[in-house]
Amino acid sequence: PAMALPEGAAQFKLVLIGEGGVGKTTFVKRVLTGDYTKHYDATIGAEMRQLPFYTNRGPIVFNVWDTAGQEKYAGLRDGYYLKAQACIIMFDLTARGSYLMVPEWHKRISRIAADIPTVLVGNKVDVKERMVKARQIRYHRRVGIPYFDISAKTNYNAVRPFLKIACILARDESLRFTEAPVLLPAEFQLNEEQKRALEADRVAADAAPLPEGD
Ligand code: GDP
Ligand code: MG
Repeated sequence: PAMALPEGAAQFKLVLIGEGGVGKTTFVKRVLTGDYTKHYDATIGAEMRQLPFYTNRGPIVFNVWDTAGQEKYAGLRDGYYLKAQACIIMFDLTARGSYLMVPEWHKRISRIAADIPTVLVGNKVDVKERMVKARQIRYHRRVGIPYFDISAKTNYNAVRPFLKIACILARDESLRFTEAPVLLPAEFQLNEEQKRALEADRVAADAAPLPEGD
């Protein structure tokens, strides 16, 4: 059921990019607030979902673009990136190759939409056999963008990338949601101890000096 978009909301095109299989589609489908009618663009081969978020500075709508799978084969058309105003680059914490491709994805978006608010996320943090350790995730520091561990399956940090992008767009770090976004129920939960350990690892990794030429 399509919902009416909030009146007077600022709208932004947000593109979701990263290797096939990292969890992009799973992630975007978790946010239930808004127009779940997806708009399919056949020439670009992508779906767009309108996700409204309610903030203390008014409603904001992200027109979130997700590929129909072309990233696995042919690559994405320029039209996918064209006029993008925000970007989430996702990799899979259980697949090292997907992290190694992050600079390439960042280059692709920057070529067409330079200097837009961009957030890096490592998905599937719920999986025990993690292949990319917190200390190995440094690309965001080199280029000065935010990073979050997330888990689409448990909803861990699932709305933080959207909130962060809204803060950057509004140039207001104290921006907050006035209504919690509605998410699909978590398939399972990380316990509080696991969450604390993840957060501590991230803080320690971001405080460690950057190795030369990395
Ligand atoms: P996409 O190709 O980037 O759109 O990736 P998909 O959303 O199709 O997900 C690829 C696979 O990863 C699917 O089998 C998902 O169920 C799985 N997946 C996605 N997110 C998570 C997650 O947070 N945790 C785990 N364990 N699996 C996930
Ligand atoms: Mg997909």
